[in-house]
Amino acid sequence: MIGAGGVGGVVAKKMAQNHAVFSEFMIASRTLSKCEQIKKEIEQFIPTKSVVTTAKVDADSVPELVALIREYQPDMVINVALPYQDLTIMDACLETGVHYLDTANYEPKDVAKFEYSWQWAYRERFEKAGLMALLGCGFDPGATQAFTAYHAKHHFDEIHYLDIVDCNNGSHGKAFATNFNPEINIREITANGRYWENGGWVETKPLEISQDIYYPKVATRKSYVLYHEELESLVVNFPTIKRARFWMTFGDAYIKHLSVLEGIGMTSIEPIKIKGVEISPLEFLKAVLPEPSSLAANYTGQTCIGVQAKGVKDGKEKVHFVYNVCDHAETYKEVQAQGISYTTGVPAMIGAMLMLQGTWKRAGVWNVEQLDPDPFIAAMNQWGLPVDELAGIELVKD
Ligand code: NDP
Repeated sequence: MIGAGGVGGVVAKKMAQNHAVFSEFMIASRTLSKCEQIKKEIEQFIPTKSVVTTAKVDADSVPELVALIREYQPDMVINVALPYQDLTIMDACLETGVHYLDTANYEPKDVAKFEYSWQWAYRERFEKAGLMALLGCGFDPGATQAFTAYHAKHHFDEIHYLDIVDCNNGSHGKAFATNFNPEINIREITANGRYWENGGWVETKPLEISQDIYYPKVATRKSYVLYHEELESLVVNFPTIKRARFWMTFGDAYIKHLSVLEGIGMTSIEPIKIKGVEISPLEFLKAVLPEPSSLAANYTGQTCIGVQAKGVKDGKEKVHFVYNVCDHAETYKEVQAQGISYTTGVPAMIGAMLMLQGTWKRAGVWNVEQLDPDPFIAAMNQWGLPVDELAGIELVKD
């Protein structure tokens, strides 16, 4: 695995728990001490038979990646570094003949824009090499696509309206912090919103559309329409969808901080020169903000992430909701991580397991909804993310 941040720590610890499948793995990242810290925590907290090694690697460099992969000879690489590294790691996997998985789609560092076209362009090369690349196998993207495939397989003949909802009703006690990499997070939230309707994308201003949504077992929270990457592949793979939206909760204090930071230019990705050093204000801000992994110890509350589908089954209209609730304090007790890292890291471990066991293995580049959701959801129930369902109640209104 590459990346030793909040998500990386969870992936490593869940692999260590699942040592029957992950008998040997390497934690590699830019900062070796972070890999070693995760290894130390595994030795301290997780009973395991996995043989764990660590290494330093700059994942922006294909030759460095190739050298490390040749030396270690893994079956696959789990990429939980940053979206900027997706293509270099995919190139290195192709060159060395190993399978690939990530949790976020490629984004160039100098353009705040993400889309699948760059990674879908690798389809033929992975197919020809007999290798699999599984894209976006975290929670959202990831589990949300498995939930959609589950709706389609078990509950609907046709899905017409899809609403993905993501609520973090937790509190970390800091004035302002992001739950995953601040740079990636802020780029996502400050971008224009977008949703799919009647065969095309409708663009909105950032956080322009909102409504109160009830999140079962958690709370009713104001939620905002954001553009999120899984929408792009879901509307392709489920062409009966007439409208697809993604909603996320933000507290008033979070939005206030963000709008001040934006107003004074601190979220800009345009580099400026300070004392001879070129740095973008957003990179600087990332260095000042708390690391996502450091939020874990005092985090309380829960997340609720799910997918509401509306459509027809046997000629009748219906609505159905599939979701998971995850408790920040529980995940801290289990793997010393907050819920956002946990809900991303567990599906990444599960996707890797299903690939290694052959259940999901197929050559080419794939999105999660293209694969059988049943073994994935069964593994979520087994590995700490229980999945629940609610029939007949419309949580997200038109
Ligand atoms: P962090 O910032 O906590 O961790 C990122 C890690 O990647 C750090 O260890 C960092 O190293 C390492 N890294 C960065 N650049 C390089 C490089 N060039 N070479 C090697 N290692 C590098 O982020 P998170 O753990 O919160 O997020 C990890 C990924 O998960 C991101 O891509 C994020 O978008 C994705 N994500 C996906 C979600 C989903 O549900 N699908 C939800 C949340 C996150 P260093 O320590 O030196 O900075």
